[in-house]
Amino acid sequence: MRLMRFQENVDLANFSTMALGGKVRYLVRVSNETELVEAMSFAKANKLHSIIIGEGSNIVWQDGLFEGLVIVNDINYFDIHKETSNSYLLTVGAGEIWDKIVEQSTSEELSGIEALSLIPGKTGATPIQNVGAYGQEISQSLVNIRVYDALENKFFTIDNADCGFGYRTSRFKTSERGRFYITKLKLRLKKTNPEPPFYKDVTNYFNDQKITDFTPETVRQAVIQIRKHKLPDPKTIHNCGSFFANPLISQESEQQLKTLFPDLVSWPTDNGLFKVSAAWLIEKAGYKNYHDQETGMATWENQPLVLVNEHAKSTNDLLLFKEKIVSVVQARFGIELQQEPELLP
Ligand SMILES: Cc1cc2nc3c(=O)[nH]c(=O)nc-3n(C[C@H](O)[C@H](O)[C@H](O)COP(=O)(O)OP(=O)(O)OC[C@H]3O[C@@H](n4cnc5c(N)ncnc54)[C@H](O)[C@@H]3O)c2cc1C
Repeated sequence: MRLMRFQENVDLANFSTMALGGKVRYLVRVSNETELVEAMSFAKANKLHSIIIGEGSNIVWQDGLFEGLVIVNDINYFDIHKETSNSYLLTVGAGEIWDKIVEQSTSEELSGIEALSLIPGKTGATPIQNVGAYGQEISQSLVNIRVYDALENKFFTIDNADCGFGYRTSRFKTSERGRFYITKLKLRLKKTNPEPPFYKDVTNYFNDQKITDFTPETVRQAVIQIRKHKLPDPKTIHNCGSFFANPLISQESEQQLKTLFPDLVSWPTDNGLFKVSAAWLIEKAGYKNYHDQETGMATWENQPLVLVNEHAKSTNDLLLFKEKIVSVVQARFGIELQQEPELLP
């Protein structure tokens, strides 16, 4: 049996792809459910607040000392099982690297998550904000999740319908933030080829490359190429992907804005609201490819939604830069941008 090691006074900048933040009193890696329970018991016995994380690609740590316990999820598991002639069930440990699961499933010609290629992070974090990209969301393929409930101290399964999924959100990010520690996910994928219409960028890529053979693998490769062009690699450039969610506004507000700004980029959604491109708002607010000397932060050249830590000294610098953008967008368009990565603890 592996002995769990509780490290003390650990730099949290190493556990966020933004590479900022203070220290945590204790940090431990768990590789199975027994170790997770042990870590939770340690937190309880020492009256410590605990937080479970994956790769830290959607986390911004506060500055200062967090007098708590950070649990890094390393629970690995993978099982694939044929359900019907064209449907497969995948059971995946929450500690598995998400893109490896997408790679494996597309190589098995399974469809459902191919457009979620190259999203950084671990599988266990995907339900938290209902990760989505290029027209797919994890909620469309998720059957259920196995969780440890920190309130009731027991394991159980939560079905998709009970996850409270919405655009970049779930009950795990809102009303019950921090309560459930995900250990496994069950996904249902189809042995069919994806069909057009695809998301605009993907369609353009296929047209440019003259690709007419639409398979999970060709969609994956298209998404990988688009993302590589548009987004910085968090392994070499400190960032957390999109720093702001696309705001949702009423149809009336959208029409008013369109009158003032005819080139406004927006899309209707299923619930009657309109999604406005946060990238467009930021660009029009004068923050495209902006390098802020005061804070050491910048917006990424090919995607202004991505905030990049060039030489910031602290999370305070990042939040200062964020506020500059939020206040200009608010003053110009009357829209309040919402931060997507979580500020912890
Ligand atoms: C370059 C870049 C591009 C990105 N593109 C996208 C994108 O296209 N679409 C998108 O949706 N996101 C995107 N993201 C955000 C991020 O990759 C995803 O949100 C990802 O799922 C986070 O995984 P993680 O393991 O890094 O989670 P972490 O950042 O470690 O954690 C994120 C949240 O999930 C919680 N959490 C983590 N693991 C568990 C668990 N096992 N049980 C319970 N709670 C848990 C944490 O407490 C925290 O609240 C991008 C990020 C980067 C850096």
